[in-house]
Amino acid sequence: MRNKYAFFLSLILASTLACACTASGFQDRKAIIMLDPGHGGNDTGVKGPDGSTEKSICFLLAKKISKKLRDNNRILLTREGDHNPDPVQRTAAANRGKADLFVSLHTDGSAPQISGIIRIIHLPPHISQHTDSGIWDEGHRLHREQSIRLANSLAKTMENKNLPQRIRIMEADLFLLKPLTMPAVLVETGNLRSPRDALWLADPDNQNTLAEAIANGIDRFIDSMVH
Ligand SMILES: [Zn+2]
Repeated sequence: MRNKYAFFLSLILASTLACACTASGFQDRKAIIMLDPGHGGNDTGVKGPDGSTEKSICFLLAKKISKKLRDNNRILLTREGDHNPDPVQRTAAANRGKADLFVSLHTDGSAPQISGIIRIIHLPPHISQHTDSGIWDEGHRLHREQSIRLANSLAKTMENKNLPQRIRIMEADLFLLKPLTMPAVLVETGNLRSPRDALWLADPDNQNTLAEAIANGIDRFIDSMVH
């Protein structure tokens, strides 16, 4: 009888340990979310035909997403104003801040006739080493599966909002994402060089809808990591 008790106890202990190992660490504290509005300062990013800039749209979106998530999470931004931290500073801040996930916000700058596409980009299975970078960290490969899950989650909540854009999940060997030690994606919210996308992105109602879709996607991802 005592042996049987010990057996069940060890089973319970093993399952508890298994949970602790597979869980992401979200359970007993607020998730730390790093939002990365692209560009800033002298680097405007893409300029729209209406004079709008990628740096401003991404910053506005980051602030709106932050507002929707901050009650239940801890939100960090790679920039709080109009300046341009370099990629190393952005990723180092996320790693140092022990962020649980990283979402970088950009717009596309393709030919003006291309419009109506939101891209969610994560790293491919094999990433090249950046030889002049001492910060490159193979550790991100470990988080690739979770990055894909985050991308899928964002795509799902964007689709739920019935946005007029098509949502594409893509792989790219992005320098920005490589040093990160947490699930990470880069979202290109539209082609700012396209008059149609620029008009859509400049509308505060559309910005709110997109911010809500991204915030919901982040929430959904966190839920999926906890349960
Ligand atoms: Zn950009």
